[in-house]
Amino acid sequence: MREDLATRLRDARARREALRRTRARRTVTAREGMHVQVDGCWLLDACGNDYLGLARDPRVACALRDAAGAPGGIASHLVCGHAREHDVLERAVADWLEAPRALLVGSGFSGNLAVVQGLLGRGDACVQDRLNHASLLDAARLAGATLRRYPHNDVDGARRQLATLPDGAALLATDGVFSMDGDIAPLRALSDVARECGAWLYVDDAHGVGVLGPGGRGSVAAAGLGVREVPLRLVTLGKALGTAGALVVGDADVVGHLAETARPYVYTTALPPALAAAALQAVTLAREGDPLRARLHAHIERFRARARGHGLALTDSTTPIQPVICGDDARALAMAAHVEADGVWIAAIRPPTVPDGQARLRVTLSAAHADGEVDRIADALARARDAISPDA
Ligand SMILES: *Cc1c(COP(=O)(O)O)cnc(C)c1O
Repeated sequence: MREDLATRLRDARARREALRRTRARRTVTAREGMHVQVDGCWLLDACGNDYLGLARDPRVACALRDAAGAPGGIASHLVCGHAREHDVLERAVADWLEAPRALLVGSGFSGNLAVVQGLLGRGDACVQDRLNHASLLDAARLAGATLRRYPHNDVDGARRQLATLPDGAALLATDGVFSMDGDIAPLRALSDVARECGAWLYVDDAHGVGVLGPGGRGSVAAAGLGVREVPLRLVTLGKALGTAGALVVGDADVVGHLAETARPYVYTTALPPALAAAALQAVTLAREGDPLRARLHAHIERFRARARGHGLALTDSTTPIQPVICGDDARALAMAAHVEADGVWIAAIRPPTVPDGQARLRVTLSAAHADGEVDRIADALARARDAISPDA
């Protein structure tokens, strides 16, 4: 007999409730710098991805307003939606990242779908780090490629997985900076493996661009690599670049192929040109953003030193993503509630976003934080830890 969807949904909801894995959005009613108003209370934002503070930069807002005369995307890029603002942004990002070509896509999620679906099909291999972003995993499934995952950052594991799939084309895909852990992929070693195995290396640098490497050019540049070793990478605009959308950046022919054939690119409406104008301003600021990066990296050091002083267990992340692993879900939720009562907002991240038993508070730092705010975040975490389990 056909299964009833309404019953299935009710059962799934009941299971989430039993596991305390229900999820709810919180509505932000005002923002002032790094402070946000939620449910009538002002909280210090310590879990957003605005690493350079560009989402709060008046120059970016001004660029958006100045270009807001035509708010619509109008059509897909290949019909009549491709505007000068899109074109200028693509050229600016390609120039910044020292790559021949960039293609603006609606989001990082759809960019990953476009890359993998545009390159691979049935019989091809997509080998991925186990902790890659959900969109990369879904992209391999959409493409119909054989998806194999290797243990986190295990270069030999990647080589072994590629060796099990010797036929068909192959893509080795990894996050540059892992979104929930903040650690950096061993890109140089992975690029050697890709070359040995005849695969292309694809790097999702959503959390690396703007933050890492010379000129903020990201994890690929930080590893001393370029388009030759990494023919394609993903740059998102919604994190360090403070706006929205994403670009696929790399070899001109490869990017050109995607622009003509990748379904998640071809069959979607162009982003509003004003958004591209705002992103262009953000790219300019990020490119000239060495002082912002210096401030951000000083904050990371400051946070880690203060947290260590409190005896808090940190991971060895050197990026603005500084997870505090709590273990079970209940503990993560209790910690989050405690730091919130202390005026700091750090969302608890639970499975399935992270593996079972690794629920965490994912602290993120921004150049827009003040020194004292960085201290407040570490202090609130220590107080929460003490309140929940005095001898932890
Ligand atoms: C956020 C993120 C994405 C998705 O980007 P959006 O532009 O938000 O859709 C893709 N990959 C990684 C690693 C991310 O962190």
